[in-house]
Parts: sequence; structure tokens; C-alpha cells
Amino acid sequence: MSKLIAISATADTSKISLSLNYARSLEGAGLVPMIVPPLTDPTRAGDILDSVGGLLLTGGEDVDPKRYGAPPHPKLGKINPQRDATELALLEAARDRRLPVLAICRGIQILNVAFGGTLYQDLPSEHPSAVGHDSPRDAASRTHDVTITAGSRLAAATGAAAMAVNSYHHQAVCHVGAGLRVTAIAGDGVIEGVEVDDPAWWVLAVQWHPEDLTTEVRSWARGIFKAFADEIARAEKAATRPSSAPRPGLAS
Ligand code: MN
Repeated sequence: MSKLIAISATADTSKISLSLNYARSLEGAGLVPMIVPPLTDPTRAGDILDSVGGLLLTGGEDVDPKRYGAPPHPKLGKINPQRDATELALLEAARDRRLPVLAICRGIQILNVAFGGTLYQDLPSEHPSAVGHDSPRDAASRTHDVTITAGSRLAAATGAAAMAVNSYHHQAVCHVGAGLRVTAIAGDGVIEGVEVDDPAWWVLAVQWHPEDLTTEVRSWARGIFKAFADEIARAEKAATRPSSAPRPGLAS
């Protein structure tokens, strides 16, 4: 195991791109970022995860609605099928290895789709409410509240029962995939957090952007990255526990 974290990124035809705040937030928690672009061969996802201690799924394009059996909505944004395929393969490889996963924004959406769930393709037209989820304000502005489920990994990570979060998304979890449980919900009922209902696999997902909030003096966001790092350290310790069998030395 390793402190290296695979971070999914996007790419156009010539350049990879990713907000630097994801990498800085990992570094702040003592982790080492390793950027993974959409792959031309997603079956290599396992090769990547063999070398890292965790996976961070990041914000970005809308998930192709074909992935959850829906026709495209007129307000569907830009999609990136190669990124969808890569992240779904990374999630499957992470599940096989029970590798800790932190999923942010698009990350919670692709996670839900991986578990057979569906998405709102455009909140303003499919779930209109007074809560502004796609804030025109800067990335660190906390624009709406979420209620956090007691006893969840998210509650443990943040130490909070409710908090104000930043929000810039026009899609969201609709039907929750089987095997996930809701951990955070906005005032208008929009699902803002889920986690995998499996004590052996640490997967924490949020719809907001903790990576833009980790430099604040008092930061629940930092708690999320710390919980991720703590879980990786715990998994590392469990994996390197000395076995009772004698281990041959190089000279033998
Ligand atoms: Mn929101």
C-alpha cells in the first residue's frame, strides 16, 4: 500500500486538466497525488490501482445518461464517454481491492451510476427549488446547508450534524444505487452525500467541493481529507501486519 492517490482528471484532445486544489488538499493530509487522465484502454485501471493507496474521483463533465439507461435531457451538459469508462473501471478495480475511495461532485454521480443508480440531468428543470445549487459565487462560498446522517462515515469525518457547503452542480443523485446509503441531504431534498454500505470498503462521496475549503481556519472539509488519509494508513497497517509464516531473505 502507499500514500499515493490516483486522482481522475479530464482531458480534451490535447491537454489534461484538473483543479489544483484536489492535489493540494491531498498533500495537506499527508498524501501524494498522482493524476490519471481518461485512458484509451480502461482495462488498465487495475494496473494503476495496484500502485496506489486510494482513489479520488473529481468534478467535471456530466455522466453520459446512456450509462443509466436514460435519454439525453435537452439541458444535458458536455459528456466525456472515455472518462466515464475510465472512472467506472477504476471504481470496479477499487472495489476488487477494497481500496479507499473519496468521490467529489461528478465523483458522487459516477459512483451512484456504478451502483445502478440514476441522476437528475438538470436540477433547475427536473427538481426546481429555492436552493441555488449552481452558485455563480466563488468556489469557496458556502451557499446552502446540508444535514448529515448521524453514525455515517461523513459524520465521523466532519464531526458535524449539519453544515453550510459550497455548491456548483446542475446534476445530482436521483435514485440511489443499491448498496449505497445517503449521508447528506440539502434543504430541498437533493442528495449531497452517499457512502458504500460495506464495513470492509471505505467509500465516501459528497456533491459539494471540500477541496476548495481545506485552507479555511476551521474546516470540516479538511476533516474529510484527513479521514481519507487515516483510512489509508489503517488499511496499510492491516496489509503489512507481519505474517506468522517465515519470510525468505534475499540470500536464501
Ligand atoms: Mn448542492
